Formats: sequence, structure tokens, C-alpha cells
Amino acid sequence: MSRMKHRRTATMLLLLALSSVLVLGGCGTDAAKEKGSETTQTGEIDPALAPKDDATTGEEANDPVTSMQTENALAQTVEQQNGKAIVNNAESMLVVVNKERSLPDGYEPPDLVEPNVKFSFSEEHEKRHMRKEAAEALEKLFANAEENNIELNAVSGYRSYKRQQSLYNYYVDTQGEEYASRVSAVPGTSEHQTGLAIDVSSPSVGNVLEEVFGGSVEGKWLAEHAHEFGFIIRYPQDGEAITGYLYEPWHIRYVGVEAATAIYNQKTTLEQFLQE
Ligand SMILES: [Zn+2]
Repeated sequence: MSRMKHRRTATMLLLLALSSVLVLGGCGTDAAKEKGSETTQTGEIDPALAPKDDATTGEEANDPVTSMQTENALAQTVEQQNGKAIVNNAESMLVVVNKERSLPDGYEPPDLVEPNVKFSFSEEHEKRHMRKEAAEALEKLFANAEENNIELNAVSGYRSYKRQQSLYNYYVDTQGEEYASRVSAVPGTSEHQTGLAIDVSSPSVGNVLEEVFGGSVEGKWLAEHAHEFGFIIRYPQDGEAITGYLYEPWHIRYVGVEAATAIYNQKTTLEQFLQE
């Protein structure tokens, strides 16, 4: 376990050190991938990726994106418990929670805070919260939107297991189980419970969480720029077979700038990004 943590810390340091190199990461992803997995095994520093004027060393210096993919690969981050597949990396920024992968029972994120952004409602509510790193990124995203005359409103962030349960039951009661499972997550399988996801809309469409937002100026801006701040459109158009959800242009998920940029450039989904 401590080795994992150590590796993670090393990876984080590398992310900082290598972020300038990463700007070029969009092209030649496959080559970088191969190189990276090679260095993962040997633990050697790839001279092509290591910053030349940096004094550190000894630590592994893989391509950070490849390291993240390896550490969070779908097959390695899930364990069967009582017939359910439970993720073992719930606190990772790259955790994948979906219809086939649940959070551990009673999971609560460790560092929920309220981002200082405009919400579509004024009352206190748990849905105002996100994990700290995601909340800070959201503030930057919203500030940048505003500078570009794009008015976004946060609608719904963190959702506890309990609240997900009542929402899901509401859909089952009003629309039936099959519909409920298409539009809402079974308790324990909602990405909102990770504290890394938030639904965003705009007053221009009445702050609705509907496909119409994707066609609005604000929705288009969000799709084009979210990755610059570490977010992805988690449920893209025509992605239902992979993500399990219909297109949700309003649901953004924090994964960090490097992963978000790679996913954006590859026009892929989080599941495919971590497939290996
Ligand atoms: Zn959502």
C-alpha cells in the first residue's frame, strides 16, 4: 500500500515536472504509450521524457499519462465482493464508477468543499460540494467561461449514497425500473458520489439538464474547453454502449488536465482510456 502511495506521489511530482513536455502529448500517443509501459517495467528514466535541467532522479520518470493509465487500469481497480464489482481506487482522480463498478459501501469522499462558483439555486445543499482538487479546477473553468462571456451555472455536484437512493427510487416509482436504470444510477454506482462530477447548465436554456444544453453556445464552449481545466464530458453522444448512459452534455467529470486532454484529443471515453 505504501508503495502505491509512494508511486502516486512520484507520479504527481512528475506531472508537475513534465507538464511542459506534455503539451506535445496529443500527437504520437501510441508511441508514447509503448515507451511508457516499457519504462514502467524497468523503472528506468526515459531520457527523452525526463526534464533535462532537473536535478532529481532515481525516481521513475514515465510518461505521466501512461503511468496513470497503468495504475488505474479497469481490470486492476475492481474486486468482486458478494457478487458485486467494487472499485479499489475510490479516491483516485481516475476512478471509474459505472453500472458495472460500484463504490465501496458507505463511501464518502475525504475532502469535500464548496466551490466558489455560481449555482442555479441559492439554498445550502450537499450537491454544492465537490472534492477539493475538482472544486478548485471548477472555479478556474467558470472564471475562464465568464471571461469569454459564457454564463454557466453549477446545478448538481456531490451526491451521497442516501440521496442517490431516494432519487433512483423516485424514477423507479414514476417511470419504471428500466427507464430509471437508463437515466439514473443504482445507489453506489453514481459518479456524483465520488465528488468528482458535477452537472452544469446555463440560464440561456433555463439551467435544464437536457440535451438542448449541448446545442447552446455555452454547451459548445464547455465541450471545447472543459479539458483545459481537467474535466471531460463524461457521457458523450453515441457512447451509451460503453458508458452505459445516454448523451449528457451537462455532466462533467474531473480527471486532471493531462488525462482530460488525452481523452479529449482521442475523442474517447474514460472507460476506453483505461481499458489497456
Ligand atoms: Zn450528472
